[in-house]
Amino acid sequence: MTTATMDLKQHIRGIPDFPKPGILFYDISTLMRDADAWQVAMGRMTRAVAPWAPDMLAAIESRGFLTAAPLASRLGCGLVMLRKPGKLPGATVSHEYDLEYGSDTLHIQADAIRPGQRVVVMDDLLATGGTLAASVALLRKVGANVVGAATLIEIRALGGRDRLDIPVESLVSYD
Ligand code: AMP
Repeated sequence: MTTATMDLKQHIRGIPDFPKPGILFYDISTLMRDADAWQVAMGRMTRAVAPWAPDMLAAIESRGFLTAAPLASRLGCGLVMLRKPGKLPGATVSHEYDLEYGSDTLHIQADAIRPGQRVVVMDDLLATGGTLAASVALLRKVGANVVGAATLIEIRALGGRDRLDIPVESLVSYD
């Protein structure tokens, strides 16, 4: 198979009932493990994100780190981490958001972004869109101009992109 026709879905594993019953977990470990497939994925992601001309990629802990870091290097732009509480040193700005049960909080270093910088936010997977929406809100708190969101995988049926007021690129989607 040539890189142009490679079906990335063949490299993504769906694991039923993980981390809890009823969830089909899309595992990108098998994609990253295959050097050719990972190269193809990062090449396609680069072509999808480059037109937004970001100054910075914002990577959501933790699998967003894996997609954003190689991409920032390919695009020649900066990289900033959006992290769970207690992980980032120095002054941070936070945003709390609701989960199905309870809530979660993401932090960014207060000086990570210069106001008006063009930022693309990245994660491995878009499901309900709650995580990306919270990340966009956090980035706007520190003055970012959030120009897009990019994920490897999208679960279309959950309607995540409808919760976002920015363009979204995903490499593979499931119903
Ligand atoms: P959501 O906020 O509902 O869009 O969920 C997206 C976040 O949860 C991402 O950080 C994903 O890593 C994780 N996630 C949600 N659903 C799945 C799934 N079915 N398989 C793998 N990761 C998931």
